[in-house]
Amino acid sequence: MKNGVTRLFIMAKNISLIVIGGGPGGYVAAIRGAQLGADVTLIEKNRLGGTCLNVGCIPTKALLHAAEIMEEMNHAAEYGIKVKSEGYDWKQVLAKKGAVVNQLVGGVTGLLKANKVKVMEGEASFTGAKTLSVKKKDGKTETITGDKIIIAAGSVPAIPPIPGVEGNPACIDSTAALSLENPPESLLVIGGGVIGMELATAYNAFGTKVTIVEALPKLLPMMDGELTAMLRGLMEKKGIEILTEAKVLSVGKSGDKAEVQVDLKGTKKAFLAEKVLVAVGRRTDTGALQLDKAGIRHDRGKIQVNELMETSVKDVYAIGDCLGQIMLAHIASAQGELAAENALGHKAGFDSKTNPSCVYTVPEFAGVGLTEESAKEKGIDYGVGNFPLFANGKALIANGGVGAIKILYGKKFNEILGVHILGPRATDMIGEGALAIGLEATLEEVINTIHAHPTVTEAVREAALAAEKRAIHIPNK
Ligand code: FAD
Ligand code: AMP
Repeated sequence: MKNGVTRLFIMAKNISLIVIGGGPGGYVAAIRGAQLGADVTLIEKNRLGGTCLNVGCIPTKALLHAAEIMEEMNHAAEYGIKVKSEGYDWKQVLAKKGAVVNQLVGGVTGLLKANKVKVMEGEASFTGAKTLSVKKKDGKTETITGDKIIIAAGSVPAIPPIPGVEGNPACIDSTAALSLENPPESLLVIGGGVIGMELATAYNAFGTKVTIVEALPKLLPMMDGELTAMLRGLMEKKGIEILTEAKVLSVGKSGDKAEVQVDLKGTKKAFLAEKVLVAVGRRTDTGALQLDKAGIRHDRGKIQVNELMETSVKDVYAIGDCLGQIMLAHIASAQGELAAENALGHKAGFDSKTNPSCVYTVPEFAGVGLTEESAKEKGIDYGVGNFPLFANGKALIANGGVGAIKILYGKKFNEILGVHILGPRATDMIGEGALAIGLEATLEEVINTIHAHPTVTEAVREAALAAEKRAIHIPNK
């Protein structure tokens, strides 16, 4: 029943599989279904690639990469490189972003074709348990039925009921923030979650005066608190104003600026900004599906599934953002593969324990497994190994040694419970932590693995050594 166990598959013959949605959940499910021999149709109402490729993971990272180049240029002289910056060409920044997106969307189109997946352009809604009506782009409607159905309808930005937000041209969501005509002179970001922090990082690098307003006492609630505080300090040093325990009450107008009323720890304060980025989360995009007509159980649009990804209706599965749980592309894809396999005869449960959370700030921030906060909440007897990146040669070269790596382990068995990295390429390095947790590795197993020199990954091993008070490159306290 476990995800990751070696699996034998019987080929599905003469089974039709319909996938609704062509994001990283849906297109992966379609390809896996086709690999297993099903006759697959994928219905997409917008663009293949979904949120992730078109208005999510990929375009944000393209902007952030451009921002990182700007930052690197600021430090180039330190390395003896003389560059005369003429600033940026925003049109070209957007063009590069668009080119990467188009190439990837083209890649997905090609992959679906190579796997003989039929792509239907239109919006699907249920008319019965396994019957769908598809409103096509040419205005015609087609009815299709499938032996198995996988719903991968994804999500859209949530609009909070803050007075003055809806219909206000100064208020933008993440999608609009990726295609602004020019970087605004000032930007107030409502929400210090991943999307808010990433777009704040990007626009700060392009010279926008950025203010982040977060209602909770801590930014990035799911990330390690100590490293989040370190990241906050680094962002503030770059001129980003960050307010926590600060709730946006309303958005109005003052001259040509938006006037944002904020309750700051009990005191009302007004902020002016050219644009207000509303980044308070996302909601499932299941309205058009008419789930009730199929009898699919949901909680205000969040589709309910069991660990096999099955909905309350037999042969109908749901995956990814439309569940309203962990809204990440790699989770949608992992669930997509699993749902296709389960729909076509296999039985394996989804397990998110190796799920990495990544924040593409500068430096990057990534974590997997338990944070100290969650370990405390669960009453787990844990220990911590901490290694600062100023003591790591590669990090010192890459970003001046800014950041740290933390490993949490269980005191009884020395097993790795969590790995948290703030530093250059943290999101690429977190894979080691995910593997360690998946394999239930111990501190010793990480220590006994030879890590290449010079790499930032050496600091993962050093953090494990520090847990045993035998780090080599820092004094052990
Ligand atoms: P989606 O990608 O939303 O795809 C759903 C598709 O279904 C859409 O194309 C939609 O048009 C289609 N659809 C919906 N209803 C119907 C219907 N009735 N008929 C036909 N088609 C339909 N995640 C990460 O892991 N890493 C990141 O770095 C990251 N960055 C992000 C940055 C931003 C700004 C945003 C907004 C999101 C980011 N995410 C990131 C989240 C990630 O994009 C989503 O978790 C992921 O796209 C979810 O995949 P999905 O397949 O479930 O849904
Ligand atoms: P995420 O769900 O990760 O996208 O993060 C959204 C963040 O927005 C959460 O941390 C919320 O606490 C925060 N948030 C929601 N409403 C408000 C508000 N009115 N003012 C400030 N922050 C908010």
